[in-house]
Amino acid sequence: MPERSIVNGPKVSSMPQETKAQLLSQLPSTDRLVSSPVGQALVQEHGATLVTQQARELLTATRQHLLGGGQHNVELSLEQQLAQGVASKVAPRLRPMLNLTGTVIHTNMGRAVLPQVAIDYVHAMMQHPLNLEYDLHTGQRGDRDSIVEGLICDITGAQAATVVNNNAAAVLLTIAALARGREVIVSRGELVEIGGAFRMPDVMASAGASMVEVGTTNRTHLADYQNAITPQTALLMKVHTSNYVVQGFTAEVTEAALAPLAAAKGIPLATDLGSGSLMDMSRYGLPKEPTPQEMIAAGCDVVTFSGDKLLGGPQAGLIVGSQDAITKIKKFPMKRALRLSKLPLAALEATLRLYLQPELLRTHLPTLRWLTRSQAEILNMAQTVCPAVQQALGPRYEVRVQNMMSQIGSGSLPIDTLPSSGLSITPKLAGKKGLGTALDQLEVALRALPTPVIGRIENDHILWDCRCLDHAQDLTNSLQFLKL
Ligand SMILES: *Cc1c(COP(=O)(O)O)cnc(C)c1O
Repeated sequence: MPERSIVNGPKVSSMPQETKAQLLSQLPSTDRLVSSPVGQALVQEHGATLVTQQARELLTATRQHLLGGGQHNVELSLEQQLAQGVASKVAPRLRPMLNLTGTVIHTNMGRAVLPQVAIDYVHAMMQHPLNLEYDLHTGQRGDRDSIVEGLICDITGAQAATVVNNNAAAVLLTIAALARGREVIVSRGELVEIGGAFRMPDVMASAGASMVEVGTTNRTHLADYQNAITPQTALLMKVHTSNYVVQGFTAEVTEAALAPLAAAKGIPLATDLGSGSLMDMSRYGLPKEPTPQEMIAAGCDVVTFSGDKLLGGPQAGLIVGSQDAITKIKKFPMKRALRLSKLPLAALEATLRLYLQPELLRTHLPTLRWLTRSQAEILNMAQTVCPAVQQALGPRYEVRVQNMMSQIGSGSLPIDTLPSSGLSITPKLAGKKGLGTALDQLEVALRALPTPVIGRIENDHILWDCRCLDHAQDLTNSLQFLKL
């Protein structure tokens, strides 16, 4: 193939014009490149469409390069470049990562890692037609919510339940279905913003409800709600301040205190828990989060929470409450647009079945296992991996075992941290000069790994919290490919 002679020559920029013109005239046609041995092998594997398109793009780019334009690879033959181009086109975009940030439920890393039973169940269920909306008793059309409704009611004690795409959707749908065109009363201390522009006032507006703010940022009283009720009031709304705390001279009205007022006025009371752990976390020595069970028992008509925060399942929004409220929510047309697809529904069902067997939770739910891992066990992991990490990073870095604090994450228990352990990595430099650059370069190399290793930078060190590292090998295998 003539293209080899093209690419093995001197740098294009230093070539005389006539050489470039000669090389241009030697470039093969798309057809010729595709019918080369490498091209044919690629066609066998990927089909002619992709390979031909890639060959065309490659030749166009090479031509532009020879004409003095943009950057182009001159180290590899055209055939090799074609193989590389095709491989990168079909490469998976999602990649597993090692989360050594210490934030257990990390929104940017996909939040909860699914329990193996849920993964197996999704795998099995997605291979066949299934009774998603097919009632096997009557042979009639069924309701997909019925797959999980009984489970959710058993676990939470609610009369009824429905599920949607995420908790943001759950809140939007609840407000739209119960209060569109009317007023919703909410405390000024609870106008939360969740990451990614989910702001309570905007959600109210999107749902078509008018927000009536009561109280102040730090203190809201029962009388504030009472005085704001008008014939236009459709909903009393509580929002769990899941990603911040107001401390000091504060007062809030609990759901239990608000429920009698709501009942007396015949106005539904909704609470958005955000995370809403389905079990009492204090049982495991973790800080207490309000549970949907408690909110139902306190008299809330609707409780909303996420499927992939402390619950430890797939992305989903769970809406539980009274039969009356849930029926209205399910009948609202927007429900159809926000409903859960069969993939997360299957994962949610398998995760919820675990909650019927609480003794199994700690071993099966990765989120709970990581949150409850003892500092001694994490320290042991850090000590195990430390020598191999030092070896992989080489003499230009100092790797030490160090105790540190982990965060729960994703708007759950924002100020609570858990004692943990891990590694601290420091570039060995004469002084502070160049330290920031050295740390940044190491992070870039770590992100470029086939399985990227993600830690955090703190006080001129990279910290790797080992809380979510299950197997030392996961880290050492990944670091094999490190190029520093
Ligand atoms: C996280 C959170 C939401 C949004 O839930 P998603 O499942 O991320 O859509 C809404 N409200 C509160 C209070 C939250 O903490």
